[in-house]
Amino acid sequence: MPSQSPVTVLHVALPLPLPRAFDYLPPPAARVDATWVGRRVRVPFGSRELVGLIESLGVPEDSPTQLRHVLAVLDDEPLLHGELLGSLRWLARYYHAPLGEAIATALPASLRAGDALPETCAYGWVLTEAGRTGLPSLRKHSRIRALAERIAAAVVDEDVLAAQCDDWRAVMRTLAKRDFAQRVALPRGAMHAGIAGPALNAAQREAVDAVLAAGDRFAPMLLEGVTGSGKTEVYLAAIADCLARGKQALVLVPEIGLTPQMLRRFRTRLGVPIHALHSGLADGERAHAWASMWRGEGRVLVGTRSAIFTPLPEAGLIVVDEEHDASYKQHEGVRYHARDLALVRAKALGVPVLLGSATPSLESLQHALAGRYAHLQLRQRAGAAKPPGVRVHDVRGRTLVGGLSPDAIAAIAACLARGEQALVFRNRRGYAPVLLCHDCGWSARCARCDAATQGVAMTVHGGGRTLLCHHCGARRAAPRACPDCGGLALVPQGNGTERIEHTLAERFPDATVLRVDRGTTRHRDGLEKQLARLGDAPGILVGTQMLAKGHDLPNLTLVCVVGVDEGLFSADFRAPEKLAQLLIQVAGRGGRADKPGSVLLQTHHPVHPLLSTLLTGGYPAFAALELAQREAVRLPPYGYLALLRAEAAHEALVQEFLRDAKAAMHAIVRNAEHGAVGPSVLGPLPAPMPRRAGRARWQLQLSATRRPALHAALDAWIPRLHELKSARKVRWSLDVDPVDLD
Ligand code: ADP
Ligand code: ZN
Ligand code: ZN
Repeated sequence: MPSQSPVTVLHVALPLPLPRAFDYLPPPAARVDATWVGRRVRVPFGSRELVGLIESLGVPEDSPTQLRHVLAVLDDEPLLHGELLGSLRWLARYYHAPLGEAIATALPASLRAGDALPETCAYGWVLTEAGRTGLPSLRKHSRIRALAERIAAAVVDEDVLAAQCDDWRAVMRTLAKRDFAQRVALPRGAMHAGIAGPALNAAQREAVDAVLAAGDRFAPMLLEGVTGSGKTEVYLAAIADCLARGKQALVLVPEIGLTPQMLRRFRTRLGVPIHALHSGLADGERAHAWASMWRGEGRVLVGTRSAIFTPLPEAGLIVVDEEHDASYKQHEGVRYHARDLALVRAKALGVPVLLGSATPSLESLQHALAGRYAHLQLRQRAGAAKPPGVRVHDVRGRTLVGGLSPDAIAAIAACLARGEQALVFRNRRGYAPVLLCHDCGWSARCARCDAATQGVAMTVHGGGRTLLCHHCGARRAAPRACPDCGGLALVPQGNGTERIEHTLAERFPDATVLRVDRGTTRHRDGLEKQLARLGDAPGILVGTQMLAKGHDLPNLTLVCVVGVDEGLFSADFRAPEKLAQLLIQVAGRGGRADKPGSVLLQTHHPVHPLLSTLLTGGYPAFAALELAQREAVRLPPYGYLALLRAEAAHEALVQEFLRDAKAAMHAIVRNAEHGAVGPSVLGPLPAPMPRRAGRARWQLQLSATRRPALHAALDAWIPRLHELKSARKVRWSLDVDPVDLD
């Protein structure tokens, strides 16, 4: 046997929190070439086995006999290569995370665990002989009859069935159980005719033309337009063009925006299978969608945050809908921002990237205003729809019942009388935010959590029977008597969605009152079913920001916003931006083509500049004001932040680590080349919530006026943090471009 020389070493990225690759030898007698990079391998690691990815090849430095062999090579060709592997390298560098963790974040769970890439084949359904004979026995006008008739003549694509009926899977199972129907594999590349959308108006046409003009080049674009202005129609037209050119398209939507209604719209319009990727899918389904795009079979994928890691071998377009949405930022592990990664990938792929929003993030808006992104604007609602009339309603000195003013109650009554729907928005779930003893001032607090200045109140739930901490999940029965004074005057203070629901149900006994918050609705499907049940019937929706977007509600004409005042005075520098976005989103829910909407904003601060600016100049005026303030104090997008978070059981351990970390950074800044301006370090500071679930939480905030200065310092810093002795006693993590400062 010919001896192999020179010996190749495989540098393997492993899913471990260590910023380096690990070296292994290939299996004995294997012939290694460049196509090995990007394949997965199973390797021994201590006494465990891990799955990693070959990130590069090399020659051994020490005696290769000390290296262990990989146990198995899991792929015959690279699973990750080219642009996607390159983008993951960028991700690891930018967020200062190990490449192995970036790869583990990118891969669907089953592929991360080492499973083979699943078969991807589209399926359809058709009636069997028995089914055709038995068809007349099915009840006329039933759903089962309708679907059976649909598949009587020829095989129908599962995608088409899904567009027709949400419950198609259950119906087909029933038919299959009676041997009436069978599932058959479809030939590759099956397409059905899409249905044409409305003729685009001039502003939409202009936006679509801009995307088409970019063609096969990187072109970042901000599509700004109020809810209902026809942004989705712009996406659909641009994607249709992309498909016609034989390219793939990726569409990111916020967690709550990915509704069956929305998928159905894409499916019927585009005429190709639409793959979905979101947290509600089983592992197998996620891997299936990923593999289908990887093979270039899938043409369009619509997904939430992690869908940004979808392979796009024939990329044509990336769309990020509601680009300002906070759900695009990952809050654990590798804390990436999917919108920012979308821009990096679009650039590497050489394709246009379309960021859409009614309320763009100040980051994207500033890029557009500075001319770095094309700024496409849809200034009016599409079709005949009118913008909602907004009224700021001063409730100072008014008697509120369950948080609602007499004007709000009257407006709701009038709305119901017209046979329409009202939405009452309150961003606090539960019955009441606080349980207070009227005799001695005691209030129920969580024993395991602390906010910046005082304890954390436990929220009253279950109509007053239960206390729940929204921060750590602690739950206990509400006491009958005050634990301090023994008095019985325990009163729930303030209003959550649950109490507002009770108030409305009492006041409007004949109306349907539907509450939507994390208490009633654990996942998207639940929300969809609830809203589908309500349909167009008159009724009242009460809910938190879960109701701010998603499912389209054509009969909704009144929006009452209750209790926004807390948001006006937050310490978080992003709070005004978030509040303005939320208010515009919620207000945008009301009113459709033939029915004008109105918005009633209850407040005790009617002249607050945020509200008055929003009211007179809309979001653009607010954004201009806010950008000027950020620029004055060099906050994002005019400065760059990173947050080093640490937590441990004892405050002293956290403080010691952060002090050591700060000293290490100061040493780096001191030694930096002459002229380099390092980041300034603020802290150690307690987190806005210094204790959660019994653990102390502190942080260091790094800020710099130039991004490269920040990143150069972080590059030098992270390896030192790993070496600190005090680091071993805490849990720490770095957040680059933090969105949430807690
Ligand atoms: P957005 O995504 O900005 O909220 P959509 O694209 O969903 O807006 O459009 C809102 C509504 O207006 C939809 O019902 C859509 O079918 C309709 N619409 C959009 N563009 C047009 C148009 N050019 N002519 C008529 N109706 C339109
Ligand atoms: Zn008391
Ligand atoms: Zn708690």
